[in-house]
Amino acid sequence: MSANLQNPIFQDDDLAREWLEARVWPNGPVCPHCGSTSEHVTRLTGTKHRPGVYQCNACREQFTVTVKTVFERSKVPLSKWLAALFLMTASKKGVSAHQIHRSLGVSYKTAWFMMHRLREAMRQGGLGPLGGADQIVEADETYFGKADKRRVSKQRGDRPYKSKRRNDRAVVALVERGGRVRSFHPAVADGVTVAKIVNENIAHESRLMTDESALYIKPGDNFATHETVKHSANEYVRVVTKKLNDIETITRKVHTNTVEGYFSIFKRGMRGVYQHCAEKHLHRYLAEYDFRYNTRVALGYNDLMRAEELAKGIVGKRLTYRRPHEARL
Ligand SMILES: [Zn+2]
Repeated sequence: MSANLQNPIFQDDDLAREWLEARVWPNGPVCPHCGSTSEHVTRLTGTKHRPGVYQCNACREQFTVTVKTVFERSKVPLSKWLAALFLMTASKKGVSAHQIHRSLGVSYKTAWFMMHRLREAMRQGGLGPLGGADQIVEADETYFGKADKRRVSKQRGDRPYKSKRRNDRAVVALVERGGRVRSFHPAVADGVTVAKIVNENIAHESRLMTDESALYIKPGDNFATHETVKHSANEYVRVVTKKLNDIETITRKVHTNTVEGYFSIFKRGMRGVYQHCAEKHLHRYLAEYDFRYNTRVALGYNDLMRAEELAKGIVGKRLTYRRPHEARL
C-alpha cells in the first residue's frame, strides 16, 4: 500500500470504500446510530442496495462508513476524498486548495470545502493533558495576521483589553519537548485566557518552561517547576548543571526553542501555502499544523500511518457551515 496517486483506491470508489472501512472499523462495522458492533450488523447485498450499505439489527437503521463523519452527504466520490486526504498528509507544509482543485479535477470551491472538512478530521479533541512527571512542556504565545475588525470592537465592548497587540490574531501553543503540540487561537491572549489554556491542557506534574512573560507567572505555580528564560536579556538557553563527586553534569536546558520552532513552521507554511485565511478559520489551520507535528517522522510516523490516522479522525465530526461564496467574511 503506497501513498502514490497511482494506487487504485484513488480511482475506484469500491476500493476506496473498502480501504476506509478497514481504517474506521478495524474490528468490523459499528453502527454509528447506536454503537452496536459487527455481530448485530448485516451487510446488505444485491442490486436493491448501493454497495457499502449495512443494516443494524439492534436499532434497525441503515448506514455506510461515511455516516456521521466529515464525509457525510458529500457528492464528492470517495476515491477523490482519499486522494485529497493523502495529498494533505504527505506534504510537509500543507497543500493549497488550488493544488487539490487541479490534481483532483474538482472545482476550487469544492476543494476548499473538502480541505476544511479534512482539517476538522485532523482536530484531536478529547485527549488527555500534555506532559507528565519529569516531562518538560514549553508554552508561548505569538501573533499572526490581523484580527477581524468586528471581533476586535466586540471584544473591546465586553472585556477591556489594553494591549498593543489588540488588533493582532493571538496564537498560544503548548509543546512537549520531544513530543506533541496543542495550539489555540483565543480572542485575546490575556492573563485569564492563557492561565486557563495552560492549566487545562498540561498535566500538573510537568515541568513548565516559558519566557519571562507575566502571563505565565500565576499558572506557573500549578506545575512541578516553572522555569523561565529572559529573552529581553538575550538569554535563550540556560544550561543547569549539578556537581556530583566533582563531576559536573547537565541536568536540564531551560529554553522555549521547541515551541518557537513550532511557530516558525506554522508561519512559514501559512505564508507560503495559505496566503489568505479568515480569522474565523485560523483554528482549523492550527489543527492542521498540530496534526502534522503530532504525526511527524521523528515520532515514528510515515506517510501511510499519517493518512491512516487522519482516516480514523473523520468519525463523529460534522461540518455544516456554508460554502465560501456564501460565507460571511
Ligand atoms: Zn444501530
